[in-house]
Amino acid sequence: MAKSSTRSKAAADTSSLNEGPICVVCGDKANGMHYRALTCEGCKTFFRRNARNHLSLKCEMGGEKSCEMDLYTRRHCAACRMKKCLDMGMQIDSKYTITILTLMMWEARYLA
Ligand SMILES: [Zn+2]
Ligand SMILES: [Zn+2]
Repeated sequence: MAKSSTRSKAAADTSSLNEGPICVVCGDKANGMHYRALTCEGCKTFFRRNARNHLSLKCEMGGEKSCEMDLYTRRHCAACRMKKCLDMGMQIDSKYTITILTLMMWEARYLA
């Protein structure tokens, strides 16, 4: 007769399946590490698109204090969303630097 020691295992695992990783910026479901932070697809795209001109983004609340950032309010203020991205340690550099370097190397070889 086998012992029933593995009986409760399946039940314990299912509850953690739905939770998963959470985006550090807006709290949506994260799908991986993007630009050094755990974010959702939306914030990844947002960051990539705005990282280089984020200084031109203006908070409509005047920037006195940050707007709330969650699944629903994240669309309201690009400035505060970007600020939160940066606060969370997001950086565009790694990929960007590699691209520039590759380009320069290619150019040097091509022109030589
Ligand atoms: Zn997000
Ligand atoms: Zn704002």
